[in-house]
Amino acid sequence: MTTESIIRMEAVNKWYGEFQVLTGIDLSVRQGERIVICGPSGSGKSTLIRCINRLETVQKGRIVVDGIDLTAGGKNVDAVRAEVGMVFQQFNLFPHLTILENCTLAPMRSRGMTKAQAEEVAMKYLTRVRIPEQAGKYPSQLSGGQQQRVAIARALCMAPKIMLFDEPTSALDPEMVKEVLDTMIGLAEDGMTMLCVTHEMGFARSVADRVIFMADGKIVEQAPPGEFFSNPKDERTRQFLGQIL
Ligand code: ADP
Ligand code: MG
Repeated sequence: MTTESIIRMEAVNKWYGEFQVLTGIDLSVRQGERIVICGPSGSGKSTLIRCINRLETVQKGRIVVDGIDLTAGGKNVDAVRAEVGMVFQQFNLFPHLTILENCTLAPMRSRGMTKAQAEEVAMKYLTRVRIPEQAGKYPSQLSGGQQQRVAIARALCMAPKIMLFDEPTSALDPEMVKEVLDTMIGLAEDGMTMLCVTHEMGFARSVADRVIFMADGKIVEQAPPGEFFSNPKDERTRQFLGQIL
């Protein structure tokens, strides 16, 4: 099973109007694999991972996620959303709901859980991200790092098979980055399949099985972190690493 791809993108091309944002993307991800995606702003990183839970559609190519063909028609959206959790740069919590309610809403609506069941699951994951005591508060009463941990817990309440992270620490004050990265490291250690767009190269080094560098809508190169950082092959990768390291 572990050699089987849980995500398969084949010759994926996407345009926004005239502008080609993804060009010939081929990407296979094994179950349990941890991938870090980096690259300059505008290179298509967000678009790429948003295709995996069908927040974006593509005009050409094939995307199959856990056996669900996303390029075969609209009816597979709900199925894939139930399997793929996503965490954004801006935490996207519902401001008018408590932390607990943020976590129980989707499981009650789309997993058919009772309130009691959903609350039990929510408390389990809020405990796991180490903020069970915040359950009754509203998002605005929490720090950015705490809100992002709630966003992670909320995604986990849906029991996803895959977690997507789009620059989850970019909007955080520096002192809160570590608590969120530590939460993500914990998830990785538990065997979650993860794709993380991040420029936290320390995280990439310690957690990633593979680092992917994108530029101009293409995967320019990919390698295990040791090789990626010590021996980047493409000039654009070297330049990028030179700027951020
Ligand atoms: P990254 O995450 O690497 O910064 P994005 O995937 O967000 O890159 O965007 C890639 C390019 O596509 C950028 O030039 C961006 O301006 C453009 N783009 C992103 N979303 C849209 C959209 N909804 N409509 C038009 N252009 C877009
Ligand atoms: Mg982005």
